[in-house]
Order: sequence, then structure tokens, then C-alpha cells
Amino acid sequence: MKAIRRFTVRTVLPDVLAPLEELAANLRWSWHQPTLELFRDIAPELWDELGKDPYGLLGEVQPARLAELAADEAFVGRAVALRDELRAYLGAPRWYQGLGSHAPATVAYFSPEFGIADALPQYSGGLGILAGDHLKAASDLGVPIVGVGLFYRAGYFRQAISREGWQLESYPVLDPDGLPMSVLRAPDGTAAQVVLALPDGKALTARIWLLAVGRVPLLLLDTDVPENPEELRSVTDRLYGGGGEHRLLQELLLGIGGARAVGIYARLAGIPEPTVFHTNEGHAGFLGLERIRELVGDGLSFAEALEVVRAGTVFTTHTPVPAGIDRFEAPLVERYFSTELLPGVDAADVLALGAEDYEGGAADTFNMAVMGLRLAQRANGVSLLHGAVSRQMFGALWPGFDSEEVPITSITNGVHPATWTDPRVRALAASKLGTDDATACDWTTDAVTDAELWRLRGELRAQLVADARRRMAAAWEEQNPGVPAPPWYRELLSPEVLTIGFARRVPTYKRLTLMLQDPDRLRALLTDPDRPVQLVVAGKSHPADDGGKRLIQLLVEFSQDPEVRGRIVFLPDYDIGMAQTLYPGCDVWLNNPLRPLEACGTSGMKAALNGSLNLSILDGWWSEFHDEHNGWAIPSADSAGDAAERDALEAAAMYDLIEHQIAPRFYDRGADGVPAAWVADIRHTLATLSPALSAERMVREYVERLYLPAAASETAITSGDYSAARELAAWVARVRGAWPEVHVAHVESGGVDASPHVGEELRVRAFVELGDLGPDDVAVELVHGRPRAGEELGDAHVVPLELESHDLGKPAVYTGSLRFERAGAFGYTVRVVPRNALFASDAELGLVALAG
Ligand SMILES: *Cc1c(COP(=O)(O)O)cnc(C)c1O
Repeated sequence: MKAIRRFTVRTVLPDVLAPLEELAANLRWSWHQPTLELFRDIAPELWDELGKDPYGLLGEVQPARLAELAADEAFVGRAVALRDELRAYLGAPRWYQGLGSHAPATVAYFSPEFGIADALPQYSGGLGILAGDHLKAASDLGVPIVGVGLFYRAGYFRQAISREGWQLESYPVLDPDGLPMSVLRAPDGTAAQVVLALPDGKALTARIWLLAVGRVPLLLLDTDVPENPEELRSVTDRLYGGGGEHRLLQELLLGIGGARAVGIYARLAGIPEPTVFHTNEGHAGFLGLERIRELVGDGLSFAEALEVVRAGTVFTTHTPVPAGIDRFEAPLVERYFSTELLPGVDAADVLALGAEDYEGGAADTFNMAVMGLRLAQRANGVSLLHGAVSRQMFGALWPGFDSEEVPITSITNGVHPATWTDPRVRALAASKLGTDDATACDWTTDAVTDAELWRLRGELRAQLVADARRRMAAAWEEQNPGVPAPPWYRELLSPEVLTIGFARRVPTYKRLTLMLQDPDRLRALLTDPDRPVQLVVAGKSHPADDGGKRLIQLLVEFSQDPEVRGRIVFLPDYDIGMAQTLYPGCDVWLNNPLRPLEACGTSGMKAALNGSLNLSILDGWWSEFHDEHNGWAIPSADSAGDAAERDALEAAAMYDLIEHQIAPRFYDRGADGVPAAWVADIRHTLATLSPALSAERMVREYVERLYLPAAASETAITSGDYSAARELAAWVARVRGAWPEVHVAHVESGGVDASPHVGEELRVRAFVELGDLGPDDVAVELVHGRPRAGEELGDAHVVPLELESHDLGKPAVYTGSLRFERAGAFGYTVRVVPRNALFASDAELGLVALAG
């Protein structure tokens, strides 16, 4: 029988235990170990059963137990002390408060998913966990972020594996009353709502859930309200559930509804409205259109409003995989914007923002990433390599500029240490190195001995083995009720064996089954009598992706082979809870994507924070952080003839590394049983990688490199009651109109003969036709570098040229010089670009006039 309705009948807490309510209501507990321990001690079995869920626990614990705790002075004292600590954490000035008054007072951060705690399954993978870590680190640093997302009634799916190895999905429905969140209400008690006008006179209504992530408020929009007809209630049913129109509705709600919700929240909470808007991937891009609508309502034109919105918007792109980018059929988008959805905003202007109207683009397609880039003056990829790949991938939006100059920078992802460092690692740091912040200690001294570090790693491995056995037993019981599990289930994995982990979503480019390329070779590694290896694998395939499910099935089938079973397991239902035990427990964390399709990858970072070593293709973060002592690089077979050959070569390289380097080093034990070389690598990893991989480093970079400049741009462009925006829009129109006339008429050079020497000076005079523009509208530059094949300039440098004269009716004359600093091939050209003080980059308009 299925219940038609469900809710939680909550226990009434005795007054002295009121601090527990306060502690449970703020998700700070998800990264505060003492608070987690306090809740665990209330009812340890229930705690495990509910999966580390303080709020859920308080809903279910029996009154008798609470009465007992209320009489326990020590317990009450702990609760009060932790409550006071939380209040102090929420109130005290932090890093951001030292930045000064130019720092924005409120920053809105939009994401389609947020991975904060196991009890709140509102994420599917890396993008969501990153968003959760961003909020947590922002809270720790005091960054005044407001998070904005959707509340999915069933979140992402739960994964089970059938006896045939096939992925089964289920969608447990969440009970909002059982979660630490409350409806945002006006002072008179009415629930705050956002309403979006839809085609055919319909309307989509959403309420706003408010969550506290430490100091950071998080707003989640929810369409499951009585005001909506049945088919619209389900708009927020699942994360990435439907395609086409369902997805579009979710994104309209996230962007437009989200922007409205932040405004409502700011007014109710009495905080300044955000001036900087950060969108985590393109899904929330419509937020820029809602802000344009507001400005148009205040009397600006679309073009003027666009300049204002661009100034304060930061766009982070997360994937170079085309399938990862949202694209809609343009007529569908047009239908939704030919309504009262955004009064004063023309559907044609909206369509133009998302149009792939560049070389290689598709007609009638609306591309959310392209719109995201056009609505944001500042954009970034999420690792150095991914920044470079994105500049190439989106280069067509800035025609005429080499990819190095495409205005997309990069900020490498980070992970939130307090969430992702195992309590045992933190405890060892606290007891031997003076702080439980394991990212801030010197792990290279003998304050911690090799034996202690090795014992720690053994405990983490044993903890993983126990967790894996428990999960596999529970999964068996679920699939085969009443049938006892086979005996080998009790002996899955060994706490002594070199453990390699691999867990991630299962899109093709991540190559879940690369390890199965040569099954005999893998079998030999797993069953080696002296130096055995064991593999722990997990991952969810998108429900619509049967190819991915087939890969999971291949792995499960292999893991059931009597010869290797017990040495390789596939753990169902990869989630935050599993990850927190899995990463620390693996000696080696494996990642073998098709380079360069992994934008960053964060699981390897979380492993490194716990002293696990990485074995990875040089992609994403690993391509910038790998050195000789923190793990191993699998060489990419870029020159392989086809995909199959590439897989074979890269898999062979991986087997070789495991067999000839990794296993020998792991099993090379001293008299004390400790592998000294391995432990040295662990120390090096903890000491050098963990500070750099921290989400605090990442959030500081976002603040310093993107939020502060965006806030300055926003201040500049809104100044004089938007007169700067009006002038800029008019200037942009004038420059675009005049540009076809702008060209470099000719270039003279002097000072050197045909074969110059290092140290000599090249002088250049350029004659430039500016048409209707003046010298103040442009910059003229000498660009030099090494000519590559096809005469492209590689390694290009830019030297500004000075205006010498600009006589009426004649070309403007620009001059400059440069000294040859190295020998070899040399090439140069002269170009004209539009220049405006309100631009973040000369490439912004994508306009350039090149000599020749
Ligand atoms: C970190 C994490 C991910 C993302 O890992 P990648 O290496 O970026 O693929 C996915 N799922 C969970 C549960 C995670 O904790």
C-alpha cells in the first residue's frame, strides 16, 4: 500500500534541549564534527540508519530518550556550548569583513544543484557538490553570498543494481517538513511566492524554501503548491528529470524566479540587494533577462540594460562536453518569451542572445552557455587546462581574436576541507600538529611519525572495507529479501590490500570500464599472490543513458567472476555519504577520462586531502598539480589512430604503472612494516596539495579576481543614474556601426635591416583609417610572436602604439618600437581594437581590424 500523503510527527523537545533545534536547523553541522558527534550520541543506531541527519533524528527520537538526555547535565552542557559556538561563528567578522567597503554587500550565487549533506539529496554529481562547497567556504570566509536553486521533490535518483547487474532507479519523495528548511514568509505570515507568466494565459507559482548553510542563506524554489495545476506542480519534481520543455520550465524558474526570489529575500531580511550575480554553469542564465526586465521598467533600453547586467554578472562554464551544455529549440524559447513573462523585453532580443550565429553554430538553436557568456562580462573555466579549452571552444563568439585572448579566464575548483577530510586525519593533525585544520599543518616533520601516518591510512582503509561490506550486504538484502547472502560477501575486500578507487557519474568520456580493456591483465593484478590489488568502484548512470548502464553491468559481471570476486566490488548508490568514507579509504584514486573532457574533477582532490595518491590522466586539476611525488600520470595517447587504439594504449599504460611502480612501492615494507617511500609521498601530498586544493583558496580567488572587479564595474556603469550605461550602449552602437570602415592602411618599419640581431630595435609606423571613430575609441597595437605553420603567430605579445598625428582627412599615424630579445623566427602585425574604460577586455565586442 502506498500512502497518499506523508509527514513527520515531530517530537516536542524538552526546554533544556532547545539548543539541539537551533543546531539542527543550520546546515553548519554538515561540516562540524563536534556537532555531528553530539547528535550521534542521542541515538547511535538511529543515527546510522538515518544517515547522519540531525534534523531527521530529532523528528524520530523517542520522548523517553529525550527525557533522559534532558536530565544529563553533561549532555545539556555540550549542547549549550555548541550552540554558543555556532552563534559566535555566525556573528564574528571574518576574512571578507577585512576587505573594505568596495567589496559587494551581497552576491547572489545560482546553481541548478547543491550538494551539501547526504540528508539533502539535491545534487547529481560534481557540479552540485562544488556549489555546496562554494557556499560552505563562503560561510567560513564571511563572503555575503545568497545561494539560489530549486527544491526537487525527489532529488536525484537512488541507484540499486539488479541481479543481472542492471541499474535500477527509484525516486524516494522527500518530506520538506523533515528537512532543515522553512518557508520564506512576509512579516504577516503569508508565504512569499514568485509567479511566472506562461503561454496561453497560464502561470507558474513557486514558494521559496529558506535554508541556512552556516552564514549563507540558501533559497530553493518549489512548484509543488496548490496554486499550480497538476502538470505545473511537477516542474520541480526531479533533478535533470525531463527533457525539452520540462527542462526549460525548470531553468526559467531558476533564473527568472530565482532573481525575483533573491529580491524578495533581500527586502524581507533587510539586506542590500545583490550587485554581483554568479551563475554556476548556464542553467540559470535567464536570471540576466529578469534583471534586464527590471531595468527596462526603470526606463533603460534593452541595450543599456544589457550593459548593466553584464557588468555585474560572472559566468562559470563547467564542461567542454557538448552534451553537457543545455540547448533548446529556438521556437520553444520564443513561445515562452512571447508572453507577459518579461514585460518590455522582446522575444527577438532574447533569441539573439542564445543564437549560435557564428561559424559552426546550428540554426534555430538556443544555447544557454552562449547566452551565459553574452550576459556576463566575466567568465571562467574551472582549471587552467579547462580555461584554455573553453577559450578555444567558445572562440567563435570573439572572431578575429586568437584563443589566448578570448575573455574567459580560469579558477581551479577546490573542495571544502572540513567536509572532505576524514575525522581521523583531523584528529591526528590536532593531536600532533597543533590544529585540526589538516590543510594548514606541516606534515613533513617527524611530529607525526611514519608509523603513525601508516597506521592512520590502515584505519581509513579498514573503515572503507567495513563500510563496503555493510553496503553490499544491505544491497543484497534489498534485492533478495529473505535469501541469505553468499558466504564470500562477508569477505569482500581486505583491509591489508592495496586499494584503488574509482567513482563518478558514468558519461562515456569518463570511461568507467577502461580498467576492463584487458581482463586477463586486470585479473592478474587483482590476484597477484605477493602484491595483490583491490578495486572499489561506484557511479550512477543518467537514467536515460542505457549505454552507461551497460558499462555498469559489464563491471558488475566482471566483479562476480569467482576468480576475482572479493577483490573488485561495485558499490551501488554513490552519494556524499559513501564518498566521505571511500576517498580516504583508497590508497590510490584513479581517474581516466578522455583528455581534455574532464573540466576539473574534484574527487581526486578530496582523496588527496586524506593522503590518498592519485593515478590519473593529465586532465583537469591533475594536469596542473601532478608532480613526481603525489601520484602518477597516465600518459594520454593523443596520437592514437582511433578511439579504440587510444583506449588500449592508455589502459596498457595504466596497468604498467600499477604493476611496475604502484604495487612495488606500496608493498616495499621496512622492518617495521611501513612502506617508507609511499609514506613520504603521503606527507608530500598532504603538505603541498591540501592547502592548494581547498575551497577557501577557490572562493578567495572568485572574490578577488571576479566579484570585486564585477562590483567595481557595476558601480561604474550605474553611476550618474545609469548615465554611464546609456553612454556605453550608445558608444557600442556607434562603434559597431563604424567598424566596417576601420582598417590599417599601411605599416612602415625601420631601424633594422633584413636580418636583424638580438638587441636591435624595430620601429613601426602604422597608418590607420578610423572612419567615423576617433583615437579615443580605439587602441592600436603591434602584435608579435613566432610564426607557426599557416603564418599564425604563436606565443603572441602585444605592444601598444602611440598616436603621433591625426590630421583631418588623413589616416591617423601610430608609432612604437620593440627590441628583439631572442633569436629565431619572428613575425608581427598591427591591429586596431575598440577600447572603453568600462570594458574588462578589448576583445569584449569581438571586433578587431588587422593589417594586411
Ligand atoms: C566529489 C563528488 C563528485 C564529483 O567527482 P568528480 O571527480 O568531479 O567526478 C561526484 N559525486 C560525489 C558524491 C562527490 O562527492
